Amino acid sequence: MKLLYSRDEMVRLAVEALKSRGVEVDDIAEIAYNQQAKYTKNIGFDTCRDSVIKVLSLRDIFHHVLLAVQLDKMAEKKMFEGPIQDIIEQDLGLFGVDEVLGLDVARLYGVIGMTNFGDIDVNKPGIVKHLNDEGKKEGIVHTFLDDIVGAIAAAASTRVAQVINEELAQQLPHEKISLFDE
Ligand code: MG
Repeated sequence: MKLLYSRDEMVRLAVEALKSRGVEVDDIAEIAYNQQAKYTKNIGFDTCRDSVIKVLSLRDIFHHVLLAVQLDKMAEKKMFEGPIQDIIEQDLGLFGVDEVLGLDVARLYGVIGMTNFGDIDVNKPGIVKHLNDEGKKEGIVHTFLDDIVGAIAAAASTRVAQVINEELAQQLPHEKISLFDE
């Protein structure tokens, strides 16, 4: 039994799981890029793609991706017992556990990560809208996937902002900084 995976393995498996459900890394990078381009000039698409990969290498996020993919597949196969089967399968508007899982991913990137996730959740850009629309078709369930994908995009976009701001901070003159006025 293997429980622990290296960061490289986690990226590979998470990418594979997403791919098996019709989501490519570049689909997620595109949302991150479009979100961050509103606030930051001259960001590269490659920077966003790298951020998505970095985010997917985190153990918490790896677990969320695999679980979300499984939950949707189980609902497609009608494997849940009782009312929750129909609630997940029909993606009931008042069911919010999928958003909670998304928020849990976005939360790793702080309040900005969470508000960026809210923006994607409401406006449904790119692949998120596609997944949402496809999920309405008979036999296809994307109840958990759309939120996880949106959350990864939000996390990646927030990470890009953090990396850029760190670079800017490094470029500022290194004066001796004191916490208190002397
Ligand atoms: Mg959902």
